[in-house]
This record gives sequence, C-alpha cells and structure tokens, in this order.
Amino acid sequence: MMKTKKINKSGGLTIPSDIRRSIDMDKGQAIDIEVQGGKLVISKHTPRCMFCQSIDNVVRHQNNYICPKCIKEMGAKVDE
Ligand SMILES: [Zn+2]
Repeated sequence: MMKTKKINKSGGLTIPSDIRRSIDMDKGQAIDIEVQGGKLVISKHTPRCMFCQSIDNVVRHQNNYICPKCIKEMGAKVDE
C-alpha cells in the first residue's frame, strides 16, 4: 500500500487511516521515526535503552528505559 502525502507547514504528516488500520496503529500512539538507507521508517514505538539502544528486557526508570547490561555496567562503575 502506498499513498502520496504532503508535509504540512509545521512539519507534520497525517498517516492515512487505512494505512494505520492495516498495521493496527491507533491515533495518539507513540511512534519511532528513523532514517534507513535515505528513507524514513515509521513504526510503533518500542522502548529502547537510553544508552545502547537495545530493546531487550528494557526496564523503565523515571522517564527513561535502561537494559540489564547497562544497569550491570553502571553498577560495576559505582562499585569501583
Ligand atoms: Zn543498554
């Protein structure tokens, strides 16, 4: 499925409802936007570690996500 849209004056973009429905993406849902090979890729938000960008078993601490590996590394630095 492909649609042509214009970016509005404030830089916003409306994702057509049929495209949103086809991937079960709701209004107001957080999304991730990244550049891959010169293209924009928009996907449902996946929490990532704020340090290494891993998505494996991340835990939320205050308003950030951290993976177990980075927690362990920080713990080791505190113990030094
Ligand atoms: Zn990490």
